[in-house]
Amino acid sequence: SGDRPYATVNPTTGRTEQEFPFLDSSEIDGVVDRAHAAFQEWRRRPVEERAAIVGRIGELMRERREELGALVTREMGKRLEEATGEAVLVSNIFRYYAENGPRFLEPRPIDVMHGEALVVNEPTGVLLAIEPWNFPLYQVSRVAAPNLVLGNAIVLKHAENNPQTALAIEQLFRDAGLPEGVYTNLFLRISDVEQVIAHPHVRGVTLTGSDRAGSSVAALAGKHLKKSVLELGGNDPFIVLDAPEVGRTVKAAAISRTMNSGQACIAAKRFIVMDDVYDDFVAGLTETFRSLQPGDPTDPSTSLGPLSSERAAAALTAQVQDAIDKGATVLAGGGRPDREGAFVEATLLADVTPEMRAYREELFGPVGVVHRVSSEEEAVRLANDTPYGLSATVFSGDTERARRVADQVESGMVWINSPSGTSPELPFGGVKQSGYGRELSELGMFEFANRRLVRTA
Ligand code: NAP
Repeated sequence: SGDRPYATVNPTTGRTEQEFPFLDSSEIDGVVDRAHAAFQEWRRRPVEERAAIVGRIGELMRERREELGALVTREMGKRLEEATGEAVLVSNIFRYYAENGPRFLEPRPIDVMHGEALVVNEPTGVLLAIEPWNFPLYQVSRVAAPNLVLGNAIVLKHAENNPQTALAIEQLFRDAGLPEGVYTNLFLRISDVEQVIAHPHVRGVTLTGSDRAGSSVAALAGKHLKKSVLELGGNDPFIVLDAPEVGRTVKAAAISRTMNSGQACIAAKRFIVMDDVYDDFVAGLTETFRSLQPGDPTDPSTSLGPLSSERAAAALTAQVQDAIDKGATVLAGGGRPDREGAFVEATLLADVTPEMRAYREELFGPVGVVHRVSSEEEAVRLANDTPYGLSATVFSGDTERARRVADQVESGMVWINSPSGTSPELPFGGVKQSGYGRELSELGMFEFANRRLVRTA
């Protein structure tokens, strides 16, 4: 990365549609000071008032789903139907915190011998959020919904390739009645991130993105003694122990690997399949991958959109080519289709060995890897042979067997007989190099809360 300018470059056509200037470094301190002034007023409002505005944000997200979806499709190439669906999911996240947030924040009494002890939940101040383009509405909501109800203020640096989406979110928050300064979009240079983190009024930083960016931000947070939450990459295993309904398992696997053109942190990336179902499962998955046709993401009949940028498509293709050069077997796809735009074929690779980049690296696009195993132990060993630990999936007709295997996989989330997903009430986050902290659910409410003891004699 570096300081690429904020610009809408439509990945379906490759054309640059609009560019936006960076926030000038000399203006950063003033912006944070104004966010802090807004925070001082915001935190003092009754929680019900904050929750009502968050609820209104949810309503506007639903009302504007078509226009927001269209923007997302134009800037990062997601199929329009998925983009509109993302706006609806996000609407539900805001509604969830509007409805449940005040209850989560109620003081918790502690049993003490004399007098009273309470843990109360207070906001901590201005937060810096750094977010990626892959679910550009959803990523913002995971931070904004709980923290706005809690009473924090947010300055947010979105990804350089979705500036119009970033501005539309900021405008929507204002239209919902959020006071100026409580949420501010920053077209921030990466080289200016430290200036924000260092500002005394900034109390925490959260980043969703690559482990490289996460490591850099965590180092700055440590240097300036700020709390951090990191939601980073994944290389999630999808373990198939047995498959009484192989068609259903194949369908779940294909959706998990190819939705959003494979650009999801919790997408199944490695299919680890027991010997006796391997042939049927892999035949089904190969057929499904071959049937996916790259096309215009605004066309409802398209099954596979472009990647987010030409750069992303070239990087993924290099990972695939490295595997092919070192002897991997290509079951489906394997390259770029013959058309303009940031397209990569839905690709399935077998015989992937540890020398290949595709064995260890996150493949952020529609490229899956299949592995054959002959025991539960081998499946678990392979599943855990990765620096990441975001989510995992285990399929079996025997739920107890699936649980036994699931319990041995190192991850922040594990889904049994269903592809990994997300929902407002379910905690989201990883272990190992996938980061630390949790978003969504009641847990997401407290990452940047001052859980303060009030002891009365
Ligand atoms: P990325 O390069 O890390 O970008 C993410 C955000 O971080 C962008 O706003 C980016 O700004 C910023 N950034 C990049 N380098 C930075 C640095 N050194 N210091 C501060 N900020 C920096 O990530 P990506 O590759 O575009 O996004 C995909 C990654 O995100 C994948 O690894 C995916 O698995 C992960 N992800 C994780 C989750 C989760 O919840 N665990 C969810 C979604 C995605 P610019 O755009 O200006 O470069």
